[in-house]
Amino acid sequence: MGGLVAALEPALARHRGLWLGWSGRAVQGIEAPVGGLDETARPRLAWVDLPEPWVEKYYRGFCNRTLWPLLHSFPARVRFADDEWELYQRVNEGFAEVAAKLAAPSTTVWVHDYHLLLVASALRRKEHEGPIGLFLHVPFPGPDVFSLMPWGERILDAMLDYDLVGFHTPAYLENFRQCIGSLSPARLGDDAIEHRGRRIRLRALPIGILPEDFQEPPDPKTAEEVAALLTSISPTRLVLGVDRLDYTKGIPERLDAFGRLFQLYPEWKGKVSLVQVSVPSRADVPEYAEQRRLIEGVVGRVNGEFGEAHWVPVRYLYRSYGRAHLAQLYRAADVGYVTPLRDGLNLVAKEYVAAQDPGNPGVLVLSRFAGAAVELKDAVLTNPWHPDGMARDLDRALRMPLEERRDRHGRLLAAVSRTTALTWAEEFLAALAACR
Ligand code: UDP
Repeated sequence: MGGLVAALEPALARHRGLWLGWSGRAVQGIEAPVGGLDETARPRLAWVDLPEPWVEKYYRGFCNRTLWPLLHSFPARVRFADDEWELYQRVNEGFAEVAAKLAAPSTTVWVHDYHLLLVASALRRKEHEGPIGLFLHVPFPGPDVFSLMPWGERILDAMLDYDLVGFHTPAYLENFRQCIGSLSPARLGDDAIEHRGRRIRLRALPIGILPEDFQEPPDPKTAEEVAALLTSISPTRLVLGVDRLDYTKGIPERLDAFGRLFQLYPEWKGKVSLVQVSVPSRADVPEYAEQRRLIEGVVGRVNGEFGEAHWVPVRYLYRSYGRAHLAQLYRAADVGYVTPLRDGLNLVAKEYVAAQDPGNPGVLVLSRFAGAAVELKDAVLTNPWHPDGMARDLDRALRMPLEERRDRHGRLLAAVSRTTALTWAEEFLAALAACR
């Protein structure tokens, strides 16, 4: 978020708000959350450190093993533990205490994501009067899934203490309204929810990127390093996957579909390679360690089954790259294979589009279940739950004629340039200001 915040500075400074988030730091020897202000940042960034023993139950527990799978509609992966819920409430209370010390009661506060759903409610108890907005960077499920949450009513009730709740897509917003309709006594109006004498606004505002960040020519060192990677797969065509290693991203399913391509279309053998960049993530959560083993197993199977002495179908990289490297990889790829099983938005899809050479662009194959698919309708939309369909869509992308590639890319780039990180922040903050 740091880089993003810096880029958003001009828009955010005008609104004089406080941006509230966890520093990511777990500190030994403190008893409660401790916070301060990064005065050099505009907007004023509140950083909050958590006591180390809290991180297990709060972050690895309630955030990553309860809310994350539930909000992404993976009920079979959800676990509910009372002590983790208790700690989630305590941490949210702690964030509110820090914010109340740092910001006057009239300050605008912008809270980010599912880690802090209860902060507005805690701040209201401390008599905060200024507007408080929440942006959810993840999906929101309908009541059939959300009602599994034992504390669902309380969470929804707390979320109604925000003045504005932002979602990536109209479908998530509608799901939230349906949850309110079935689990809360609040009144659903056409353009707001009314509850306890207050009006709560909802907005669908997909986040964007700064496209120019992915269009700069590379420095010589980056160009050389990326060229070395590409030489190792040359002369085959390049299909690229880039994700955090997370079960929501559908990486094993993508690898299976890639293998299926060679069964359905053996003519691609030896002519196409998949480079899969998997960024280490939440490795101390057991589901993530297991997902890593699963992925490595599928990589081995696909390479063993289809590989030849002169050609390795999948090149798997368990590491992360900086933006300049990514931009070059995106540009070199014939296909951006972005196939999450479910994803709040997916910035990689937008970055892939921004990085293409408009004269000879690659093709974005994008999951229908990524929030970005709402705007990126000119991608080849695919169903990541259906291996044969994914293999057929990949075949189609690899064969797509130049003219069609250019047409689609032109429309995709227009979409990526229309809603950027800047327009997103500007619109959210304007909508938050208009709440009062
Ligand atoms: N990313 C990165 N280095 C990598 C792979 C990914 O910096 O090696 C960045 C990528 O540029 C993108 C972000 O990580 O901005 C991933 O965002 P996305 O919305 O696609 O997924 P998330 O990880 O937030 O679920």
